[in-house]
Amino acid sequence: MKFGKKKGFFGRLSERIGDVILARPTIDEDLLDDLEEVLITSDIGMETTMHIIEQLRSDIKSERIREPEQVKEQIKAIIAGLIDKGERHKLCQDMPLIILMIGINGGGKTTSIGKIAYKCKKEGKSVMLAAADTFRAAAGEQLEIWGQRVGVNVVRHQEGADPSAVIFDAIQSAKAKNIDVLICDTAGRLQNKKNLMDELTKMNKVIGREYPEAARENLLVLDATTGKNAVSQAKEFNESADITGIVLTKLDGTAKGGIVITIADEFDMAVKFIGVGEGIEDLKEFDPKEFAGGIFD
Ligand code: GDP
Repeated sequence: MKFGKKKGFFGRLSERIGDVILARPTIDEDLLDDLEEVLITSDIGMETTMHIIEQLRSDIKSERIREPEQVKEQIKAIIAGLIDKGERHKLCQDMPLIILMIGINGGGKTTSIGKIAYKCKKEGKSVMLAAADTFRAAAGEQLEIWGQRVGVNVVRHQEGADPSAVIFDAIQSAKAKNIDVLICDTAGRLQNKKNLMDELTKMNKVIGREYPEAARENLLVLDATTGKNAVSQAKEFNESADITGIVLTKLDGTAKGGIVITIADEFDMAVKFIGVGEGIEDLKEFDPKEFAGGIFD
């Protein structure tokens, strides 16, 4: 996996931690203070930084760390532990599966739907898309384009239609055609939280009533380049929907993947996929160990 290497967040963080360790040849509170500052100013967030520093302090006390040179490795191990959610990183393999894709406009929701549809199809599953973002006409059109690209059907109503009615129709069609994976786009208007919450509640109700036997995933799409904003979105959406995993987009280039650490730690959310480009194959399964290892490449 490439995360922008030295240019990006990880390269910088690694170098900055290295500088601190070089400047502080003894393990003491001053070293911890400097590391704390590096972590806080690198997008990791206050609360998670505190967790990392506390863990470091206890590792020093128990003499697991004796030399400053061990500090970097230990930070890597602590971060790997914080982001590793075990089996929850995998997309549910039970079929039929209904995936609700949630997230604010521009985050990469439609693109991620296309990529996940392509991946599922390549694995031999039958896939259908539902254009339940009826708020923006362009959203449905864009989804149609992805449907054609991947070669899967898209259930779509007119602009302004009830999103739950789209879901209802899509479920009937998916049942009739024995579809394995139904992926549903949803509107991303965080400005109107009550509306969004009501809409998601209604969709969930329709799915529960019409297709109780279907397995479920509610994937939150977050743009890695938005840094701390992504963290507040995770918080907001977590209150509105039962999020089962994250798709972290735009991790190609110089994206600040540090937010993953914060989101995993503060909201106990598992990242399932990362987006690494605009193309159909630019989706990778998230591997916490590889990700944490990449921090100190
Ligand atoms: P939506 O409004 O959430 O549906 O967002 P879109 O799927 O339309 O994506 C918004 C923009 O981000 C588009 O130009 C996409 O090509 C781009 N995009 C989406 N995912 C990625 C990614 O992983 N990497 C990069 N570089 N661009 C992406």
